[in-house]
Amino acid sequence: MKIFFSLVFLIQFHFVSAQIYFLTADRLFDGETLHTGWAILTNGNKIISVGPVDQIKIPTGAVKINYHNSTILPGLIEGHSHLLLHPYNETSWDDQVMKESDAYRIVRATIHAKNTLLAGFTTVRDLGSEGAGYADVELKKAINHGIVIGPRMIVAGRAIVATGSYGPKGFDTDMTIMKGAEEADGNTLIKVTRNQIGNGADVVKVYADYRWGKEDNPAPTFSVEELKLIVETAKSSGRPVIAHTSTAEGMRRSILAGIETIEHGDEGTQEIFQLMKENNVALCPTLAAGEAISQYKGWKKGIDPDPEKIKKKKESFKLALQSGVTILAGGDVGVFPHGENVLEIELMVEYGLPVMNALKAATSVNAKAFHLDKELGFLKEGLKADIVVVTGDPSKNISDLRKIKFVMKDGVIYRQEK
Ligand SMILES: [Zn+2]
Repeated sequence: MKIFFSLVFLIQFHFVSAQIYFLTADRLFDGETLHTGWAILTNGNKIISVGPVDQIKIPTGAVKINYHNSTILPGLIEGHSHLLLHPYNETSWDDQVMKESDAYRIVRATIHAKNTLLAGFTTVRDLGSEGAGYADVELKKAINHGIVIGPRMIVAGRAIVATGSYGPKGFDTDMTIMKGAEEADGNTLIKVTRNQIGNGADVVKVYADYRWGKEDNPAPTFSVEELKLIVETAKSSGRPVIAHTSTAEGMRRSILAGIETIEHGDEGTQEIFQLMKENNVALCPTLAAGEAISQYKGWKKGIDPDPEKIKKKKESFKLALQSGVTILAGGDVGVFPHGENVLEIELMVEYGLPVMNALKAATSVNAKAFHLDKELGFLKEGLKADIVVVTGDPSKNISDLRKIKFVMKDGVIYRQEK
């Protein structure tokens, strides 16, 4: 991490000059295909052209940047972050929600945002402030205003949970404990959905199941009808609904209700993944969160055998791959350190996703699923100048995505190393 602070060239304000950049490297991944000997030309915050080096006309005054033994890629897109959370082995989720003030959490989040951007993730879909109100909306605003640096954010705000289902919990019933998301049921769902949208939610997140009751077993929360109410309400304002769900029944209800993406999906079956595919529902598997939590509980990866939870996750991920369901790249980062986002993409490959598909997931596939593909996720003429360069060839070794040399977001360079 230290390297971030020594070698990084930062522009601390959001000023897009009409600067023209001509960027070359050995390889260029355009979001779909890997090319050799290609270059990219940007002007201000737009990509002007992409193609073979000798076919691009370089305007006079263009700043030429070349990287040896390197690959140019679209700015990476994190599909599932919580910039307001930090790793649970530092502070438990309960204590973050109940004991850390929003002010403290927001100060931390500004550093999380910076680390995310400098790791090459120029966009995040941030799925819930977990008890920090609409701090995500305000962080997004501060980034957009150039007050702090960070990725472009799609935010969910507080998120919706069924009464009695979400934590922190386990206290005497006389205690009123603030929850990590907003409780709503039946007819109040319309009001709460509208209110969350009014407060800045770009996407509405609902918990379609959760560890519920005294045994803390995962169980479906909302009925299909309730989920449909949320979807209809959000959709009429042009916003998608996404669901946290790990049980097969929670997933089934989410699919039937018109939810666009399923987060986690641990207990998905062949039949459920098939249903997702038929209904064009994408899966964000969050493999990294599962691995991090198992390690916090004492699992030594590579030494100890896989815990039951990891074994099951590997099996269900395999079923998802076989079904052909769209797989998104989103790690639930915040459970593990911000800036370590590549971990999810590495694990997707480790669990059986072909490496090119993993690269697409973190760029063009995420962009399409998040309705951003007209602006992001590809290196194509006319799109936003979100570009990263890494040393090596991530199509051969996915971990080369960690070797970030250059980060441009919206035409502004945030990291540039020799
Ligand atoms: Zn999450």
